[in-house]
Amino acid sequence: MAGRIFRFAPSPNGRLHLGHAYSALFTAQQAKIHDGKCLLRIEDIDRARCRPEFAEQALADLQWLGLDWPQPVRYQSRHLHEYTVVIDRLERLGLLYPCFCTRAKLSKVQGSRDPDGTPVYPGYCRLMTKADRSRRMSAAEPYALRLDMAKAIVAAGSDLSFHETGCGPDGETGAIACTPQDWGDVVLARKDIATSYHVAVVHDDAVQGVTHITRGIDLFHATSIHRVLQSILEFPAPAYIHHKLISDDAGRKLSKSRGDRSLAALRDEGVTPDMIRAQLGF
Ligand code: GLU
Repeated sequence: MAGRIFRFAPSPNGRLHLGHAYSALFTAQQAKIHDGKCLLRIEDIDRARCRPEFAEQALADLQWLGLDWPQPVRYQSRHLHEYTVVIDRLERLGLLYPCFCTRAKLSKVQGSRDPDGTPVYPGYCRLMTKADRSRRMSAAEPYALRLDMAKAIVAAGSDLSFHETGCGPDGETGAIACTPQDWGDVVLARKDIATSYHVAVVHDDAVQGVTHITRGIDLFHATSIHRVLQSILEFPAPAYIHHKLISDDAGRKLSKSRGDRSLAALRDEGVTPDMIRAQLGF
């Protein structure tokens, strides 16, 4: 069973809360059960939202919980050039196109929605003529890069699936057929950061040799996008274990942005790591 690699991959855009504690403890537990190694990865590509002090605090909070991990910790912000190489590869395969649409334009899109509830991009810029595209690019108009999902699905090959040993929102488990078409032409390089969560996560899981991905059920459907990219980029297919989310008293998912009570605040109130483990069922 040696050689199994798990990872906990928080985004340092606020203090860690009980939901992160659950995910981190769950990942460590799975690594132990499977006699594997548990890595920590800091997913800080979004410089507008992530801050170094949140990353430092996350490390301290996790240590306080009694967790440790091999060094060095991977910080995505230190590997942006690697994501650019991936984007270039996809671009050379003819799978990306520039999208000049503004937020205002996108906010008016109606029609079918992706699994996150966002309207699926109708492909305005996919349909743009080459001449228009070059004109707008040479005028230095900002653009994102979108994956041409129909082409990507062909390039990824038929019958894409993933192996789930946790479960999806509707109890899905076992061999799960991917449905990347539900997402439409997702953004793979943002206007502001030249990469995206999807690119960074599949690249890092591959270079770090991650064999088992444990994460919240809210990312279950995004796995279809990740499998498409892994297949095109010839990355290995990890196993997936999606876990429940910890909700607040009103049944809402805990959120850093809403300022839900952080682990640090709980610690200051006298809550101990043992109490947290017990509350979360570990
Ligand atoms: N960084 C992501 C988050 O904090 C998790 C990504 C993943 O596990 O694939 O939600």
